[in-house]
Amino acid sequence: MKLRTLALLCALALPLAACDSARDFIGALSFAKSDPALDKLPQDFMVAAAHPHATAAGLEILRGGGSAVDAAIAVQLVLTLVEPESSGIGGGAFMLTFDPATGAIEALDGRETAPASATPALHLDDAGKPLKFFDKVLGGKSVGIPGVVAMLEMAHDEHGKLPWAELFPYAIELAENGFEMSPKLHEWLIRLPSINEMPDMRAYFTHHGVPYTVGTTIKNPDYAATLRKIAAGKSDAFYRGDIAGAIIKAVAEAPRRPATITQADFDAYQPKKRAIVCAPYRVYKICSMPPPSSGGITVLQIMQMLEAFDMAALEPGSLEAVHLIAEASRLAFADRDRYIADSDFVSVPIVGLIDPAYLRGRGTAIRRDRSMGKARAGTPPDGSQAFLQGDDAALELPSTSHFSIIDSGGFAVSMTSSVEFAFGSHLMAGGFILNNQLTDFSALPEIGGRPVANRAQPGKRPRSSMSPTLVFDEDGKLYVILGSPGGSRIIGYVAKTLIGVLDWNLTMQQAIDLPNIINRNGSTDLEAGLAHLQPGLEALGHEVKISQRMMSGVNAIRITSDGLDGGSDKRRIGTAEGE
Ligand code: GLU
Repeated sequence: MKLRTLALLCALALPLAACDSARDFIGALSFAKSDPALDKLPQDFMVAAAHPHATAAGLEILRGGGSAVDAAIAVQLVLTLVEPESSGIGGGAFMLTFDPATGAIEALDGRETAPASATPALHLDDAGKPLKFFDKVLGGKSVGIPGVVAMLEMAHDEHGKLPWAELFPYAIELAENGFEMSPKLHEWLIRLPSINEMPDMRAYFTHHGVPYTVGTTIKNPDYAATLRKIAAGKSDAFYRGDIAGAIIKAVAEAPRRPATITQADFDAYQPKKRAIVCAPYRVYKICSMPPPSSGGITVLQIMQMLEAFDMAALEPGSLEAVHLIAEASRLAFADRDRYIADSDFVSVPIVGLIDPAYLRGRGTAIRRDRSMGKARAGTPPDGSQAFLQGDDAALELPSTSHFSIIDSGGFAVSMTSSVEFAFGSHLMAGGFILNNQLTDFSALPEIGGRPVANRAQPGKRPRSSMSPTLVFDEDGKLYVILGSPGGSRIIGYVAKTLIGVLDWNLTMQQAIDLPNIINRNGSTDLEAGLAHLQPGLEALGHEVKISQRMMSGVNAIRITSDGLDGGSDKRRIGTAEGE
């Protein structure tokens, strides 16, 4: 298939409204149990990703007999180009895979690492005070060693069917011939005048400082050249050739906060296989990403504490349902902030944090008639080593991307990928954006004389919230593939969507559409579709904040007896397509 223009893809694959900016979507309470869209579900394979071109690239690979991992590689290479504000080969990612032939569920960690030059004082100014968030983000000191390419190669070595180089043509052709500026990319270029401070971004995305308009064809020959090198030389070409050299140079010569990354930092980078975290939820088993992401453990804690309540008996979006979700979420975030960081550097009581007996006890703090207010961290089994942790400072920006893929053999990939902030550090090398993932370390290395678990250290991976997730039914069959962008709100976006499909029997799209409900152990943040609950929640003791839209980006697939039920978040411009 040689469809390469967004307009054509939109005309063929999307309702036109979805090709406009998603800015008007505010979450919908849609409870219809039967959905006409379910009449003719794809039967064979599916891709749900954040941009029509990415979905199309993945489908092209699946159609040609590629595996879900092959498709994931093609999707990521295209996202790097068309959704550079969110993810790319200059960033990091986590991937979950499920192989129905063996039943194996794997968690791959392609998170960025801090270079040897990074110290715990990374985010402090000369006076020892934490820098403002934006000052930390821009420039060289926030750039971690990218992990995406190494992780994708690791996945391909085990689960690839097509030759590595055959996964590249869609992205190379698109970079060379040009892609159309999407409304979302344009919107964020306009919102972030900081792009003009960085010469490479200014030259690539703007005409004399004015972002190219929607629909402008953007060509990226530098990225095409980078892709050709990686297609030929695999991750060696990225980590040991002139691509690494270009990254080292861009960071050293950064207009803001130049920093030192060396070839030795690239040589030391290793993607890792991690032991997956899983927990039961009613008849299901939910599996997600372990540290250095806090996402999996925190999602599992929320779900396990909600198990004590008959969520299915509550109306979606009802006062009681929202109250319970918010309360469970407070408790989970209190533990998250105390205990979770890179488990290669600090001891994280992973088993204890998702221990059912521990969570049953902890869940008794949830009362139906009032909010507990600020929750305190618990003491999970093996959790005697309590750390303090800085708050997660990520703003609500369109960074990070999630995609879900299932191939015709039933092999599944759930992958969340990120350059952290919108357009990462705002530095570019080889035609792609460099991440600012090191801002996910705690700004403060210690609090009250005690070290913070998530402080910056050489070689360490910053704590993440990314939560690529897989759900299995009572027969052990794969039921849902999902995940979301959204900084630490990812956890709430994933939990809401899980409750939508597992408790409320909503379709994938209906569950994604539900207005978002976030509590990170502070205010209860709701999308406008739930604004009517504000007085009731305040009466229970919640501080309530209403947002018109929260930028979730759930791209998910539900495997039903009728076929593959995909959903893509209308708050962004993705698509779920299958055959
Ligand atoms: N850097 C964040 C994380 O790893 C993701 C940022 C986002 O989703 O916007 O958790």
